Amino acid sequence: MPTNDITKLLKFEGINFISQEENDKYIILSFVREDIRPVCPQCGSSKIHINDWRIHKATDLPINNKPVKIHIKKQRYICKDCNKTVTGSLKDIEPRKQHTNKVIPFIKEKVRFMTFKNCSQELSLSSTTTMRIFKKNTHYSEPTEFPKILHIDEFKGNSNKEKYQLAIINGETKKVFDILENRKQKTLLEYLKKPSGAPEIVVMDMWEPYYTAVKKLWPEAIIVADKFHYIRQVNWCVRDVRIRVQKSHPKGNKLKKYWKLFMMNSSKLSIFQKERLEELLSLDEELKLAYRIKESFEQAISDNGCNAHKQFDNWLDFLQTINLSEAKALYSTFENWYPEVTASFYYNYTNGVAEGINNKIKVIKRQAYGIRNFDNFRLLIMHRIS
Ligand SMILES: [Zn+2]
Repeated sequence: MPTNDITKLLKFEGINFISQEENDKYIILSFVREDIRPVCPQCGSSKIHINDWRIHKATDLPINNKPVKIHIKKQRYICKDCNKTVTGSLKDIEPRKQHTNKVIPFIKEKVRFMTFKNCSQELSLSSTTTMRIFKKNTHYSEPTEFPKILHIDEFKGNSNKEKYQLAIINGETKKVFDILENRKQKTLLEYLKKPSGAPEIVVMDMWEPYYTAVKKLWPEAIIVADKFHYIRQVNWCVRDVRIRVQKSHPKGNKLKKYWKLFMMNSSKLSIFQKERLEELLSLDEELKLAYRIKESFEQAISDNGCNAHKQFDNWLDFLQTINLSEAKALYSTFENWYPEVTASFYYNYTNGVAEGINNKIKVIKRQAYGIRNFDNFRLLIMHRIS
């Protein structure tokens, strides 16, 4: 190929192609910088001469999936009048950088769906360097205004030695609003103070610190308890009773073996499964009672609005009559969260929106590299899914 066609092809300016070689790791393209002599920046003299040569090495975009390194031979000038040495700049590489400018958008695009490790292999760079280039060139500014509907949902991020991180989700766009380092009340409160405006509806798990923070800032906001979260509480009640019974009962092993039957929606059980379940429930009165708590709860909330509200009230009355420690604990949870749970019957919002987002976060977690550091983790989440 005629020499400067390569320069054009690679969209470089101010350098001329010299030669190409290739080893099993990468292609090396050598160039020489055009000799455009500056005037001396110190004394203004134009008596500038070449003093010596330097080779600037940098990574460029891969060619046919093979990494490319470019070597640019560049002049260092000296001023004959004042002796100052002058190094001219390159158009496509920032001073002292070991990658061309084109590499930056390449990395940003690749890490939307690729791990840092794989991206760095495509360029023949270290993961650390790739991460550093990404971080330096990806700027994320905190959102300035709250949407009308906000979801608060924790997820297991294991970043910065905190097990849980908090996802704040914009209920209008269904996208990540922001990610918080932990689920402590102080962290949430500090954060919620920053953007302007106030959401009308906040959907959350039944977790006291979220409630307190939101009430403190926005006493007018309607808090909706997440349906999936409170259904889980009821399921856990059955589970706890089952485990307690199975420990002391002579047929405990059977209960252990068929634990799933207690969790399944009874309308979805096969005839065989129903018979088995009946048999297991007849082993113990308390277990039977716990199961009735779950079944009648599911029945109550299968409706919505006023109907669900009425049935839920009846269910609470029923729950209060049951003399089981697990039922008492469940009752006090629902009593504490009564306005928020009943709000969910009228406002059809759940943290189900967070599920898709949490799945994407899991993918990010699997790539492992660098995400133990919360800032990196957050930056990557916001880069990919906000
Ligand atoms: Zn000079």
